[in-house]
Amino acid sequence: MLRTHTCGELNIDNTGQDVTLTGWVQKSRDLGGMTFIDLRDRYGITQLVFNMDTDPDLCEQARKPGREFVLSVSGKVTERSNKNKKLSTGDIEIIVNTLKVLNPSKTPPFTIEDETDGGEEIRMKYRYLDLRRNPLKKNLELRHKLALKTRNYMDSIDFIEIETPFLIKSTPEGARDFVVPSRMHQGTFYALPQSPQTFKQLLMVAGYDKYFQIVRCFRDEDLRADRQPEFTQIDCEMSFVTEDDVLAIFEGLITYLFKEIKGMEIGGFARMTFDDAMKYYGSDKPDLRFGMQFVELNALVKDSGFKVFEDAELVVGISVPGCAGYSRKQLDQLVDFVKKPQIGAKGLIYVKYNEDGSFKSSVDKFFDQQAFQKWTEAFNAKPGDLLLVMAGLTDNTRKAMGTLRLEMGNRLDLCDPNVFKPLWVVDFPLLEWNDEARRFHAMHHPFTSPKQEDIHLLEPHPGKVRANAYDMVINGVEIGGGSIRIHDKELQKKMFALLGFTEEQAQQQFGFLMNAFEYGAPPHGGIALGFDRLAALFGGSDTIRDFIAFPKNNAGQDVMIDSPSVISEEQLKELGIGMVGG
Ligand code: ASP
Repeated sequence: MLRTHTCGELNIDNTGQDVTLTGWVQKSRDLGGMTFIDLRDRYGITQLVFNMDTDPDLCEQARKPGREFVLSVSGKVTERSNKNKKLSTGDIEIIVNTLKVLNPSKTPPFTIEDETDGGEEIRMKYRYLDLRRNPLKKNLELRHKLALKTRNYMDSIDFIEIETPFLIKSTPEGARDFVVPSRMHQGTFYALPQSPQTFKQLLMVAGYDKYFQIVRCFRDEDLRADRQPEFTQIDCEMSFVTEDDVLAIFEGLITYLFKEIKGMEIGGFARMTFDDAMKYYGSDKPDLRFGMQFVELNALVKDSGFKVFEDAELVVGISVPGCAGYSRKQLDQLVDFVKKPQIGAKGLIYVKYNEDGSFKSSVDKFFDQQAFQKWTEAFNAKPGDLLLVMAGLTDNTRKAMGTLRLEMGNRLDLCDPNVFKPLWVVDFPLLEWNDEARRFHAMHHPFTSPKQEDIHLLEPHPGKVRANAYDMVINGVEIGGGSIRIHDKELQKKMFALLGFTEEQAQQQFGFLMNAFEYGAPPHGGIALGFDRLAALFGGSDTIRDFIAFPKNNAGQDVMIDSPSVISEEQLKELGIGMVGG
């Protein structure tokens, strides 16, 4: 190599050695008699010294390279008089005797520092410069380690990593497919996989009973903050397993990763049904780092004369610890918060449970102190707590209350990023009614099996059928989900029918899977974990972009390579695609 050492490894034990280092100029200081350069590479920073007295020519040369020039230097490792405790190499410096500029550099458009002066846009355009910065480098190292440890764990319990194709035919996971036109078969298209779902099920039919893959998936979804059109999953499938087996294995993986990477014991996963998650937290991915469980008040308020409560399908509240002292202004802010269009509540009622045991509320006209006493008992509230109550249609009110609960958790600093509360949400509904399409959609995907004890409800009440489907949730973030699949051809057929497919459509789209099921398909199930999201969680961030080397921006574009972009007329012709408007 062109170097003997990296810029991160020399220390006091190397004193006296002749070394050659290569790297980028982090910064240089010209102090007249001496010039200092901080040389940086992936491993760290080493201080270089040039002395006017001993080598004026070299010192003159050392004044020239600007930030981010690529240098090669040789010299002697020497103990520093002025030690820098912040650097691993801070006890030494290199007294340079040869300096070579390997390549000059334009002045970078932003500073390559931990705290940079560059805005998001410019850093995305020059991603290769942004990636030189420590925070991003640490993120990519973390990602690498997560992948490595995941592979170790999966291998240690006999999983085999198998690659599945990217040019496939559409897999219905609820999002839109990215498509690729075929040149050889004009007018036809491949689709990029939204997940390897059907392939991993075919691998089960093929007898590979423990499959996994760290794999890229593609979904052409509407833009939402922190969604990437291409993202990575830890995708898995197993044969001859129950739901409990799948949960145990992946709880094991996460426990192992926390231990290996963060040195943390996270303890067991809680388990909660989807129904309870909605009832007590208004969300299918509750953040369990703090309490404030919902309490339903319908029975307590039914003859109050207060129309808003009496007419409501649901009256529900939370008890916020220690907030009875909230001012008028603070309470008004909360009312404004829940009335925002994204949340859509009509209003918010409060009851202050004062330290002296008395109550003050926005509905004093309708309820006496005794009534509030009963409420506080239902909430198990303490003097000093603040009750926040909403009323309306069940689903909407729960969702709004769920958002308010998270807001209060944040305001009270209860969402400690160093605390991890993992949870399995289980027993998801099989189907979800879509008002627009006026039909049922699969809540997870069409291959998910209904619970045995609910199969009799399939015809009369499809909406009531629960599925063998589960999500892994950590700190309010959905890390992944999966299900036990249907492996019976007839049940799969019935499912497609429920989802509104004609028999021909089902045959045309999924004939290959249903045919495979006729050749001895084992019972099977699996899961997929969002790998980018997992990396972000481990890195204490909620921005997955920062854990992907070359992500798209929030508008789904790569502004560095300028993609998506138009292609030439020639290319279009070759593909048999007419020009837009042409
Ligand atoms: N294919 C599903 C997904 O990508 C996961 C699974 O069911 O295994 O979300």
